[in-house]
Order: sequence, then structure tokens, then C-alpha cells
Amino acid sequence: MNNNSVATDSKFSGILINKDEQGYHASLQQIDDSVLPEGDVTIKVLYSTLNYKDGLAITGKSPVVRQFPLVPGIDLVGVVEHSDSADFKVGNVVINNGFGVGEKHSGGLAQKARMKSEWLIPLPANFSPKQAMIIGTAGYTAMLSVLALEKNGVTPDKGEILVTGANGGVGSFAISILSKLGYSVVASTGRLDESPYLKSLGANEVIHRETLSSPGKPLAKERWAGVIDSVGSHTLANACASTKYGGTVAACGLAQGMDFPASVAPFILRGVTLAGIDSVMRPIEDRKEAWQRLSDIIEPSVFDDIAQEINLEQAIEAAAKLLDGEIRGRVVVNVQ
Ligand code: NDP
Repeated sequence: MNNNSVATDSKFSGILINKDEQGYHASLQQIDDSVLPEGDVTIKVLYSTLNYKDGLAITGKSPVVRQFPLVPGIDLVGVVEHSDSADFKVGNVVINNGFGVGEKHSGGLAQKARMKSEWLIPLPANFSPKQAMIIGTAGYTAMLSVLALEKNGVTPDKGEILVTGANGGVGSFAISILSKLGYSVVASTGRLDESPYLKSLGANEVIHRETLSSPGKPLAKERWAGVIDSVGSHTLANACASTKYGGTVAACGLAQGMDFPASVAPFILRGVTLAGIDSVMRPIEDRKEAWQRLSDIIEPSVFDDIAQEINLEQAIEAAAKLLDGEIRGRVVVNVQ
């Protein structure tokens, strides 16, 4: 042992996904160090989360896992146990979001992880490790989406912002951030019974997602100054069709579908901007900007409203529930 590392056990608990003669399966196991991928920083994971993509990976409902065996979990926060990087020292608390982690590089749903130092950012000073994971990729993607609206001149005085997939992780954080920044927010959901929750996050109005989810006209009555859409398909098409002249639609998800059955009319007749949001390969400087803004904006009380905590044993069942739309807000996984 040297001052670049602390002694650790070679076996640790975690979820492992395999694809073999028994088919595709995810289970909680004692994992050997040899499963850890290459990387210059080894981390004792404290918390991970369940995002939509983790649900797809754990259940195998979509081919997001591209290497086996693999530990899922696109997000993690943890303490550096070993570092060959000059940027991180033993004891530093770091966050990893995306970069193919949980898809082709083992991720956060295990007690130990090995990452590339260029993917890591230090834990922002005013978040606890658990709070950082409540935010996770969902909150960070919501922030990237809000930044896209701001960069395209969608200020609070321009009018209402539509947030789709409102009860989901991205949707919940989008509502909370926009509301804190003074925007008027309309939340679209399939769960109108959750309206009190959505209003407590800051939604001014709640509409049923069926008003947006069927085939619509190329252009509809102008309503939205901006949109944050985590749903895709007809919902995204209808959101574009009803965006006001010069507005911006941030497209970040596909919970309804990957298709985009739209026309060019909103773009060429109303100057609407469609801003694509990718969190996975986002350059590190953009990540730092998003996390800095999150740490300026998010109020601590939001964490209690949005999140529920589970442990590794509960994560596989919760992943299926997430895909079935039975989970509200964010699921944070206590890994230790
Ligand atoms: P969640 O599962 O937490 O939320 C998704 C929400 O979408 C649900 O809560 C539900 O909201 C709504 N929804 C589900 N099914 C449908 C449907 N068939 N039609 C319309 N709405 C539906 O997922 P996340 O918030 O973690 O992710 C949301 C989307 O964003 C996913 O597609 C995910 O892959 C994507 N994403 C993309 C990222 C990027 O880098 N671009 C990063 C993170 C996520 P309600 O019950 O309120 O209707």
C-alpha cells in the first residue's frame, strides 16, 4: 500500500448483468475485483441512482448494455480509494455521470468502481453525496435543458414553459429548476393524481399527457415559449407545433418513443429551435457549468420531496417499476 491507495477487499456487493446460455439476467452478487474495467481511479461507491436507462439495462428491455458481464448504474458518487491521476487524491469525493458508464463500462450499482479520471468531477461543496445522486443524470440533464433555453433567449418574461414526463426524474427537476428561476411552468403527465406533488415542485398548471400524445397538426395554436421534453414521439412533434414564434424546444428523452413524426413547419415558419440535449458525452466544462448552476439553484427541501432511498437488494425490482411508470421523482440507491 502507498499514499495513492487504501487497502480494500477484493470482493464486493453489486448488481451484475450477464448474457449467456441462460439468457439476459441481472442479479445481486459478490463481485470480484477482476470484473472492474480499466481506469486510473478506483472508487468506494457511496450512492448510485436509477435512471430510465438503468431501468432498460437491468431489465434488458432495450439493448443499452454493450459489454458483459457489466455492473449497471450510469451515475455514482464515492470516495477515491486509489488514484494514478494527479487530479484526484485518496479521500476525494467524486461524481461520475454517463460517458458510457453502465452501458459499456461497469458503473455505480456496486460497492466499488473504477473510472477514468477525465470523466470525474469533484462533489460540489454544498451537496452531500446522497443529494448529488438524487440529482444524478436526471437533474443534470434537466439543468442542461434549462441552459439550452437560456442560451436561446427564452427568459421567464417570454411565456409558459411546457415540461413533459413531469413525474419522472428529468421532469421533476426541470419543474423545480424552472420554477426557482421564475418561469411559469405547465407540467404534462399521465398521472393527474400527482398534481399536488407537481405543484409543490413549482408547476403553475398540470395538463394530461393525452392532450399531446396523439398525431396532431403540423402547426397548432402558439402557446409555449419553451419546452423541455423527455418523452419524444408525437408529444415532441405536438410540442414543436404549439411553440411560439422564436421559441426553443429542448429534446432530451424518448419515454413515449424514439420516433419524431413532425413537419418542418414550426422551424421554417415560426423560427422554432429544436435543441438536442445529450448528457452522456457532454464535455467536462459543460458538466461543471451545469453542476455549478444546480448548486446555486436547488433548494435542500426539494431533495425530500423528489427522492426515495432504496438499497442494492431493492434495485432490480425498482428498475422494472421505473419502466412501468410506477415511480415518482428520483430513486437513490444506498450502495454500502
Ligand atoms: P423516468 O422513468 O423517471 O420518467 C419518465 C417519465 O415519462 C414517466 O415518469 C412518465 O411521466 C413519462 N412517461 C412514461 N411513459 C410514457 C409514455 N408512454 N408516454 C408519455 N409519457 C411517458 O425517466 P427519466 O426522467 O430518468 O428519463 C426520461 C427520459 O429522458 C428517458 O427517455 C431517458 O432515456 C431520457 N434521458 C436522456 C438523457 C440525455 O442525455 N439525453 C439523460 C437522462 C434521461 P408521467 O407519469 O408524469 O406522465
